[in-house]
Amino acid sequence: MNPTDELRTAAQTLMDLADVAQTDLDTNDYWKPYPKATAWRDGLTNGMGGASGDLAAVFSPAVAHALAKVLRETGALHTPTTCQHEGCMPHGCEWCADEDWPCADLRNALAVARQINGGQP
Ligand SMILES: [Zn+2]
Repeated sequence: MNPTDELRTAAQTLMDLADVAQTDLDTNDYWKPYPKATAWRDGLTNGMGGASGDLAAVFSPAVAHALAKVLRETGALHTPTTCQHEGCMPHGCEWCADEDWPCADLRNALAVARQINGGQP
């Protein structure tokens, strides 16, 4: 899978999970005792608790969608340089002019995507 596909796959996974979680947040009785604006945070810190609950509480469906956008846009912007020589490998990033391919920004985004996709960092 190429870097752009890895980023798109991770972004789609995040969006799909976030949409299901948002539906649950909007409809499941579990969340009803909490104020709507803070239900995600309150429900996770109360229900899960501890350090894991604190971490999960900041990763709301809205955050998941925002991270998905970062992953998608990083993949769309940071494209390899194109070369006219047949069989030539990319020489760097067209967007940020990093001489390495994948560039530093793309490598950082790929590290996130690969964790989401269940692969190696
Ligand atoms: Zn770049």
